[in-house]
Amino acid sequence: MWRDLKVTRAANSRLAEVDFDALGFGNVFSDHMFSMTCSDGEWGDPQILPYGNIEVAPGNATLHYGQSVFEGLKAFIGSDNVARVFRPDMNARRLLSSCERMCIPPLDEETFCAAIDELVALDHAWIPHKRGQALYVRPLIFSIENHLEVRPSTEFRFIVMTAPVRAYFDEGVGPIALKVEETYTRSAPGGIGAAKTAGNYAASLYPTQRGVQDGFVQMVWLDGIEHRYVEEVGAMNIFFRFKDTIVTPDLHGTILPGVTRDSVITLLRDAGHTVEERRVAIDEVVESVHNGELLEVFGAGTAAIIAPVGKFSYRNEVLTVQDNQAGEITRWLYERLTDIQRGDTEDKYRWNRLIAIDEPSVTAVTS
Ligand SMILES: *Cc1c(COP(=O)(O)O)cnc(C)c1O
Repeated sequence: MWRDLKVTRAANSRLAEVDFDALGFGNVFSDHMFSMTCSDGEWGDPQILPYGNIEVAPGNATLHYGQSVFEGLKAFIGSDNVARVFRPDMNARRLLSSCERMCIPPLDEETFCAAIDELVALDHAWIPHKRGQALYVRPLIFSIENHLEVRPSTEFRFIVMTAPVRAYFDEGVGPIALKVEETYTRSAPGGIGAAKTAGNYAASLYPTQRGVQDGFVQMVWLDGIEHRYVEEVGAMNIFFRFKDTIVTPDLHGTILPGVTRDSVITLLRDAGHTVEERRVAIDEVVESVHNGELLEVFGAGTAAIIAPVGKFSYRNEVLTVQDNQAGEITRWLYERLTDIQRGDTEDKYRWNRLIAIDEPSVTAVTS
C-alpha cells in the first residue's frame, strides 16, 4: 500500500543482546519503529527508522496537556513460522474513536494495519517463540506542537514501536489479589474513560501505588458517582462467574472497550455459556462470595490475556474467590485464546492478520 515508505535500517541489530528468558514488560524495544506525521489534518511521510530518542520542544503540548492516544496489541509466531497479529482491525477502530474524543485527526484502518505489517515483518526475528511470550505492539499518536495555549493541536506524530514481552503476570504466582478502590476513581460519566489516552493512566497512578504498598497487584475501579458498581480492574476488563452465568460490566462510556473482552464474550457464547453485560454492584460480588455463588473472577486484556483473580479486599475485609485457584473457565479461555493467537487451532473467527515474513517485500493478508 505504500508508494512513499522510507526505510532506514539500524546499522547494528540489538537482538543478540536480549535474553528472551528474562524479558520484562516493555523494557526492551525492537530495532525499528514506524513513524508518520500529520499537519493540518493530513497524515504523511511514512518512515521506518531505528528505534531511538526523538526530540520534542519543552513547550510540546502533549507533555503539558496530554493530547495523546495509544493502542496495545500483540504479534505471535507459531510452529508454522507464520507471524500473526491479533485483531488489529479492532485496535484501529478503537484508536479512531480515541482520536475523535481527543481532537486528533483520524488515521484510517488500512494505514494503521499496514504500518504494523511493515514493522513486524522487518523485525520478525524479535517475536518470541515461547508460549506466553509475544511481541507487544504499541502504536501512539501525540501532539508535536510547541505551544502553551490550551487548544487542540494541528500537528501530530504517529509512532509504532514493538517490544518482546514475557507473560504479564508470572505464571508461577497464580491468581492475583485486588484491592477495591473506595475513594479514587479512574473515570467518570462524560469523561475520557472509554478512550485509550494518557490522562486515564495518570489518574490511576496514585491510588494504584497505595494499593501496591498494601500488597495488592491491581485495583478494582468502581463507578465515579456512587462507588457502587464495578467498572474495570487495573487496565483490564473484568468478568465474574456467578454459578453458571458469566457477567461483565456493560460498556456505558466510562469503561475501555477491550478487544480481549470482546473475544472472551464471543468464545464463551459460542461454547454455549450465558454471558450478561450489565451493571455489577460490588455488594452483589461480596454477597456471592459469602453464599458460595461466586465461582470465578478474571481480568481480560492484551497484556495479561486472562488474569485469574484469587482475592480482593473491600472495606478492610479480604475475600477469597473459591480456593484462590484459577477457575475452570478462566483456564480454558487462556488456553483457547493462546492457541488461536499462535495458530495452534483453527482461526474460526478470522481474528489473526497473517504476515508473511520470508518475503523480501511484505505481503499482508487477512486469514
Ligand atoms: C487497554 C485497556 C483494556 C484492555 O483492552 P484490550 O484491547 O483487551 O487490551 C482495558 N482497560 C483499560 C483501562 C485499558 O487501557
